[in-house]
Amino acid sequence: MHIPLVDVTAQHAALRAEIEAAMAEVVAGGRFVKGPAVAEFEAAFAAFCGVAHAVGVGNGTDALRLALQALGVGPGDDVVTVPTTFVATAEAVGHVGARARFVDVHPDTWLLDPAHLDGGLTPQTRAVVPVHLYGHVSAVPRPRGIAVIEDAAQAHGARHGDRRVGALGDAAAFSFYPGKNLGAYGDAGAVVTADPDVAERVRLLADHGRATRHDHVVEGWNSRLDSLQAAVLSVKLRHLDAANEARRRFAARYRDALADVPHLTFPDVAAGTEPVHHLLVAAAERRDELRAFLEARGVETGVHYPVPLHLQPSHRHLGYARGDFPVAERLAASTVSLPLYPEMGEAAVDEVSAAVRAFYAVP
Ligand SMILES: *Cc1c(COP(=O)(O)O)cnc(C)c1O
Repeated sequence: MHIPLVDVTAQHAALRAEIEAAMAEVVAGGRFVKGPAVAEFEAAFAAFCGVAHAVGVGNGTDALRLALQALGVGPGDDVVTVPTTFVATAEAVGHVGARARFVDVHPDTWLLDPAHLDGGLTPQTRAVVPVHLYGHVSAVPRPRGIAVIEDAAQAHGARHGDRRVGALGDAAAFSFYPGKNLGAYGDAGAVVTADPDVAERVRLLADHGRATRHDHVVEGWNSRLDSLQAAVLSVKLRHLDAANEARRRFAARYRDALADVPHLTFPDVAAGTEPVHHLLVAAAERRDELRAFLEARGVETGVHYPVPLHLQPSHRHLGYARGDFPVAERLAASTVSLPLYPEMGEAAVDEVSAAVRAFYAVP
């Protein structure tokens, strides 16, 4: 038996004809950058998120950086976010010259804890970046006068009430890294926003500050969405709701099968939200032993993420110490990601669940 953590080739096998036709059309047209495939995807993705504008960019990290910059965040500013996330969230803050101020996550949802928000705010705070980690929908606080940028890199299609993530803040950053719920065949990302001025600034900054071909009105750089990636994403977007539904079914099946195992806990899903389960993550007693046991049985697992950002050497300059964010530290030491992808099938969920029960000797 071999059950991988994710399998990005399984979806291609299912959609091969559609995707290859879309890629062939881009190749035949020769518009590899800023072609019609990009505009088509941007329109479709904006509609999917329920916002007016989507701007395709080079990757999710650039999407965060561009959104921050377009909302006026820069040197001397503080940005509040969580330490329980991928490093890119804090990297983007550093790239615009601002400083990340972490607040601890909630012990039940594992996401930004609004109760800690005030402790993270300073007179210099210009933005808050809630992270919809693992496809779960974070609280999106709206402190007065402070921009809110959702890190939606793991949550394409997740909902709060009848709104999708991407429509909950002033702007949102998405990643289309191949393993994400909506994944390209390389690096890709997007900023979505209801604000036409923010969308326009992102577009300028990501394309050399260019208003017309030779008219550079601000100093930008190059972070555009490739036409080939856009063509792949347009096809996959049409299948995203179905893929997320499969993730939901498998996540529910895991949680049912493991509900009576006292050694494992899953994050709470906030009332009124509908997650899209980018990853199936549990806090597990004897986590590393469990992983070794599963690996010996052909089950691949992961850890997202073993070191909270305030303890990463890359962010030592922020001046935090062990003990500053106890919930984040506890999660980093205990969470394990179990296999989850839309094509995995119920039998694989059952096999993994049985192996976890065997490890804890819960019959
Ligand atoms: C993947 C990811 C990013 C960065 O996206 P890239 O496309 O890899 O640059 C940012 N934040 C989170 C939470 C992510 O998972």
